[in-house]
Amino acid sequence: MDYEGFFGRELERLRAEGRYRVFADLERQAGAFPRALRHDDAASTREVTVWCSNDYLGMGQHPKVLAAMQEVLTRNGAGAGGTRNISGTSHEHVLLEAELADLHGKEAALTFTSGYVANWTALGTLASRLPNCVVLSDEMNHASMIEGIRHSRADKRIFSHNDPEDLERKLRELPQDCARIVAFESVYSMDGDISPIADILEVAERYSAFTYLDEVHAVGMYGPRGGGVAEREGLMARIDLIQGTLGKAFGLMGGYIAGSAQMVDFVRSHGSGFIFTTAMPPSMAAGARASVRHLKESDAERAGQRAAVVRVSERLKAAGLPVMPSDSHIVPLMVGDAVLCKAASDALLQDHGIYVQPINYPTVPQGTERLRLTPTPLHSTDDIEQLVEALSDVWARLEIR
Ligand SMILES: *Cc1c(COP(=O)(O)O)cnc(C)c1O
Repeated sequence: MDYEGFFGRELERLRAEGRYRVFADLERQAGAFPRALRHDDAASTREVTVWCSNDYLGMGQHPKVLAAMQEVLTRNGAGAGGTRNISGTSHEHVLLEAELADLHGKEAALTFTSGYVANWTALGTLASRLPNCVVLSDEMNHASMIEGIRHSRADKRIFSHNDPEDLERKLRELPQDCARIVAFESVYSMDGDISPIADILEVAERYSAFTYLDEVHAVGMYGPRGGGVAEREGLMARIDLIQGTLGKAFGLMGGYIAGSAQMVDFVRSHGSGFIFTTAMPPSMAAGARASVRHLKESDAERAGQRAAVVRVSERLKAAGLPVMPSDSHIVPLMVGDAVLCKAASDALLQDHGIYVQPINYPTVPQGTERLRLTPTPLHSTDDIEQLVEALSDVWARLEIR
């Protein structure tokens, strides 16, 4: 077998389909977000404005977060020193989990090294160990949930996106004696739509299903204390498991689940992706706790963010650009072609110093390739005007519809 030949041909195929991913080599500038320095091939740097960060509120540079991290780094040192089981549990993990349980009004929370690992582990553990478990999964669910379900080897049924009636049809067909998990998200981050949580819960409750909600794109962002869309809608108490990340609006890294003490204890006791991996550094836990605490009390970041989203959408529409309808903080701009989408992103970066990553298959279906804008409270009105001018120029030059 010619291994190198195989790798080369496969990569060539991705390039030909316009799906080859190139990472922008950036240095984020603490204190100057959304500005970053970009390193190019010629080993020179240039300032760019980032328009696609999932650090939705700029918490990755918040003084309280940086101070908490620096303090704990100095006090406790760099790493956790082990898995949570073997000497890796630090007091900072315990405090962070209490903070997260409180955020969601739950008895307990458990942290993981990422939101991906949290979904993979929690769904994999629950679905493989609950007796005769069937998972009902929204067709647009994130890869981390899909992989967790697949790993569990449990039976699964895919219901139509955000469709409680289809969910009910699928639940009705199941035998009486099986465990059922209904797994869905609140904010679907590629289209920016929000699921009908109350309607889905009502159906799930009628069939006594366990409800599993991924609020990754909503925690920190929605609800009076940043508890997510379920908090905003007064529904947290009815959800069995809420999953979130510390890597997006909270600005750091790590994932978690929150729910009943026994359910969380069960995942802690059986979840391979929790047990067999080194815990997050204590400084990370401390930074995350500072971020969660701050966003429980302060609405200024969320208010500024919402204002920026409204302004960006209005200005793009006024310029005749194809803004997709969105119920959330995500502003998707449809391109509909992988090669054009990549070309648009390249032109924005090269000619305008604007960084928006192209979103291509398999992240979104083929033919719906797009640019996904994430306005933050730290984008100024000048930044917004510059963005609209740049997009108008690129759309005209590349003759995108
Ligand atoms: C990003 C994402 C995750 C994974 O979270 P990380 O903390 O980045 O690993 C899980 N679910 C959804 C819906 C996501 O978009």
